[in-house]
Amino acid sequence: MSLWVPAAAGPTYMNMPQDPGKTAHSGPLDRLHRPLRDLRISVTDRCNFRCVYCMPKEVFGNDYQFLERKEILTFEEIARVALIFQSLGAGKIRLTGGEPLVRRNLEQLIAQLAAIPGLDLTLTTNGSLLERKAEALKKAGLKRITVSLDALDDPTFKRMNDVDFPVAKVLAGIDAAAAAGLAPVKINMVVKRGMNEHGILPMARHFHGSGHILRFIEYMDVGHTNGWRMDDVVTAREIVSMIGREMPLEPADPNYTGEVAQRWRYKDGGGEIGVIASVTQAFCRDCTRIRLSTEGKLYTCLFATAGHDLRTLLRSGAPDGEIRDTVAAIWSKRTDRYSEIRTSQTAKLEKIEMSYIGG
Ligand code: SF4
Repeated sequence: MSLWVPAAAGPTYMNMPQDPGKTAHSGPLDRLHRPLRDLRISVTDRCNFRCVYCMPKEVFGNDYQFLERKEILTFEEIARVALIFQSLGAGKIRLTGGEPLVRRNLEQLIAQLAAIPGLDLTLTTNGSLLERKAEALKKAGLKRITVSLDALDDPTFKRMNDVDFPVAKVLAGIDAAAAAGLAPVKINMVVKRGMNEHGILPMARHFHGSGHILRFIEYMDVGHTNGWRMDDVVTAREIVSMIGREMPLEPADPNYTGEVAQRWRYKDGGGEIGVIASVTQAFCRDCTRIRLSTEGKLYTCLFATAGHDLRTLLRSGAPDGEIRDTVAAIWSKRTDRYSEIRTSQTAKLEKIEMSYIGG
């Protein structure tokens, strides 16, 4: 593989041998020597849920100003950016939102992205529209899918999503995704103390032996509107020991460097779970993720307070090479490791909202 060498004094590039089965990484390294591998693209800032830890209703009410159509990137612009990022080493794209499935004709974008050779294409959804859309997403070329589900009992789930949406519809979406060939489905449960920790064991029992991978996410201080407190965090250690007491677990090796979830396997062969411990066991040292917002801003960390405008370049007629140089320069200056330096003070920073940039 030939190294793409930019103009002198550009970013540092390294031809890095990577994980087994993965092609050697050639692309920019950031200041902590992390390669750029994963691009998360928020295709809409809108959502049909109002999850209390992400899009609290009191902030995102009826008069909330969402982005206008002319402001958001078109499918063609997103596909162009994806190709540029792939040339910089980003072989994985995750589509997020808001809720990505509320963006009309999303299958068309998926088909454009799926046409890029060697791209690992996945999507995170709240599952509300999945039963209806699973087959079309698969047909368009989606490879994998992650569904958010924060409880199995309706009263708790409705308290978490704050829009009175029933669990049964999300479960039907998961089944439809599996039937369409998007299995194993990953299921993400955000755990907030005092709201849904009593749902941890019922969720684990439900997905034990299902072939799907249930992941528990520590409640995070994303954005600046969810009123985050450390006291409301149920730690990864608590979650693993709670489940392990009933269904013994053993640690499993990561699938690749930079994998966000810690893997735990059921000793009885019932599959595995994951825990995403951004608060108590930071994983910034291997963070290879960058995020593109719906209106074309780049963010080098989920907890960023500011981004880099790419849309102006995209719409200015700039050639791909210039955009690639710009992205490479942004990445090479990256020093983000928010979860390693989190304090009660940093938690109050005006960080971008997760509903806007996606998880
Ligand atoms: S806090 Fe920022 S740098 Fe750390 S893992 Fe998350 S996105 Fe990456």
